[in-house]
Amino acid sequence: MSGHQVSPLDEFALIDNFFRGLGRHTAELSVGDDCALMQLAPGETLAVTTDTLVAGVHFIADCDAGLLARRCLRVNLSDLAAMGAEPRWFQLALTLPAVDRDWLQAFHDGLRADCEQYAIELTGGDTTRGPLTITLTLLGAVPVGKAMLRSGARPGDAVYVSGSLGDGRAALELLDDASQLKTAAESYLLNRYWLPEPRLALGQRLRPVASAAIDISDGLLADLGHICERSGVGAEIDLHRLPLSAALESMAPDRAVNWALSGGDDYELCFTVPPERIAQVDDIAAETGLQLAPVGRIVAGQRVRCLDAQGGETIVRERGYTHF
Ligand code: ADP
Ligand code: MG
Repeated sequence: MSGHQVSPLDEFALIDNFFRGLGRHTAELSVGDDCALMQLAPGETLAVTTDTLVAGVHFIADCDAGLLARRCLRVNLSDLAAMGAEPRWFQLALTLPAVDRDWLQAFHDGLRADCEQYAIELTGGDTTRGPLTITLTLLGAVPVGKAMLRSGARPGDAVYVSGSLGDGRAALELLDDASQLKTAAESYLLNRYWLPEPRLALGQRLRPVASAAIDISDGLLADLGHICERSGVGAEIDLHRLPLSAALESMAPDRAVNWALSGGDDYELCFTVPPERIAQVDDIAAETGLQLAPVGRIVAGQRVRCLDAQGGETIVRERGYTHF
């Protein structure tokens, strides 16, 4: 967190100023009481996801507070997208080292922008003093029994990914570069990092089509690995089919494939489709305007293997990011 302590804004004034009235009001009761109250329609299941971002671990403390707020929201929205859920509300637990009005205003403005973009409402949270830490809990709705799980993949299913992979990892190389002059490719990659686009429409559209889905936060190898573990299957990835952006290929031609496999921070969807429903994927790509690339297949077994264009196995050492 940048800056210094300004006037002692007490905790309740702070909440009033910066965390009330964010998003279109749809909850029965929002910020201000002991609990928030919200209702689902009959036939809906509540989908809930939480993520914590810690300064110095997940982001640099003096980064742009507005972008940070939006990235936090979008990372959580991506989890709802992966289940095929529609986002509705969110809770914010914020730990701040000091009260910095400029920082809070920028954070508030970032939240406001994405509350509007994604039609969600901030319904409550908690505010404490300590090292800068942001915990968001997103609440969404999905028709009962229709959520996409990690556990439904079967041998013979095709494996798809949305968008392009590796951009988030490429952007990490650029985050420390304070120079204002960026090439178009660098701006594109930084934008992909700070403002990932949770694939919400895609996730909802895939519910009757995909057998399993996950969002790619830790890299395709690691995240497809989670589908394989939960489904009791293995997978093959055709390395020459990985969707790479022109920006990534121009910036790091020899590392692009590795970053696409293991880089993380992409927030695209990886999903599996049974053979009889593959024809529907092209329609969904056209409807959503997204590139949906077939990158491999589910097989019997338990490993994720990488194949070159000739079908030979390639050993990839780096796996996705893990904290411990
Ligand atoms: P309690 O002591 O009952 O937990 P708090 O004083 O922590 O209540 O919070 C008062 C109200 O403000 C509650 O409705 C809570 O959900 C809300 N709130 C606190 N911090 C935040 C925040 N960072 N963002 C949104 N709402 C918040
Ligand atoms: Mg509290």
